[in-house]
Amino acid sequence: FSAEEEAVLEQIEEENVDFLRLQFTDILGTVKNVSVPASQAEKAFEEGIYFDGSSIDGFVRIQESDMRLDPDPTTFAILPWRNTDESAAARLICDVINTSTDEPFSGDPRGVLKRAIERAEELGYTVNAAPEPEFFLFEEDEDGYATTETSDAGGYFDLAPKDLASDVRKDIIFGLESMGFDIEASHHEVAEGQHEINFEYDDALSTADNVATFRSVVRAIAAEHGQHATFMPKPIPRINGSGMHTHLSLFTEDGENAFHDDDDEFNLSETAKQFTAGILEHAPAITAVTNPTVNSYKRLVPGYEAPVYVAWSDRNRSALIRKPAARVPAASRIEARFPDPSCNPYLAFATLIHAGLEGIEQDLDCPDPIRENIYEFDEAKREEYGIETLPTNLGEAVDALEEDEVVASALGEHVYEKFTEAKRAEFKDYLVDVSQWEIDRYLEKY
Ligand code: GLU
Ligand code: MG
Ligand code: MG
Repeated sequence: FSAEEEAVLEQIEEENVDFLRLQFTDILGTVKNVSVPASQAEKAFEEGIYFDGSSIDGFVRIQESDMRLDPDPTTFAILPWRNTDESAAARLICDVINTSTDEPFSGDPRGVLKRAIERAEELGYTVNAAPEPEFFLFEEDEDGYATTETSDAGGYFDLAPKDLASDVRKDIIFGLESMGFDIEASHHEVAEGQHEINFEYDDALSTADNVATFRSVVRAIAAEHGQHATFMPKPIPRINGSGMHTHLSLFTEDGENAFHDDDDEFNLSETAKQFTAGILEHAPAITAVTNPTVNSYKRLVPGYEAPVYVAWSDRNRSALIRKPAARVPAASRIEARFPDPSCNPYLAFATLIHAGLEGIEQDLDCPDPIRENIYEFDEAKREEYGIETLPTNLGEAVDALEEDEVVASALGEHVYEKFTEAKRAEFKDYLVDVSQWEIDRYLEKY
């Protein structure tokens, strides 16, 4: 066993771990578990654990369904809501291997992100990422079903006693910390019932693992308090939705921040600008992945601090990409403001990274930053500045993805096929539905 595997085996003993959850995500970002007794840990490290991939959404057909999970020992963590002195459950995040070729399975989102990271490494960079997932806490009804009623009347950065949900948030943070998260900040967001917890940046793969973990921890701990945590992007109309702003930077092999330049007006290097230009160029197609639900596009409308226009800024929050103020050179980074927390973090980061690297490789010119509030621009002014808009619905986003070779190949053929198929079907189903808004507006009028 490797030293890391040895350390896991020791911890399993010491903490009385009786069950291991071997985790991976499907193409849509849902966390899947294969539970094994802790006595299987050595075998899992030695040979992997075999499972039938045909039962997982978007994985494989029955006849090619033999898959293997190879646990990554660096991801070992005890689940805080299943931990007593006598027994505990732990999870390990796994790579999915195709047993007939013994190669990483091309439909594994974690493998897709690993490929993006390898491309960065070939150019001499490691990718750092830090997400800011926002979510709502809602009451459950008597039968335990989620409602859209909030239990608090807090506003941005409000403190207790108004912020009744702060107890829940505190427990969530303790839970995350016990699993090894470094929490940077947490606060009440703009909307009633809305929260944000930011975690410290890490390499892109660990960060994507963290997002997947984060969503399950938040939901599990909220549920213990009789609350439902949702990462649905826009649960309540006409107030702020939930984003998952993603901060990105590239570091060189000797630990320098390749995005920083002391002499630049914005402290952004040429590399950072090219990376930004790449994301701007491919933004419409990336949106299909970073904003993958019908509901995502209810958030991407003017007026609620979510981006609509394809531009960057060193100031305002209406832009797709913002350059946040950095206290030290290591903190120079860009903030992609369009992703939302319903995305598959592995695929979302992979498309952002590939598009950014494409910008570097193609030497793309970065447009000037827009320093005014773009929500207030009319069409003529947007045209004058050459500002495009994001897709306005999931159908348009999938169209854009189908026309974008760079983003499509970021996903790889297997994931691209399954993803577009699933999203086309989702959008089609939405189009044939009749919403409450239509009933309210038309039923009596016509
Ligand atoms: N909730 C806003 C969004 O949808 C972001 C608010 C903020 O700047 O944190 O992206
Ligand atoms: Mg926020
Ligand atoms: Mg932010």
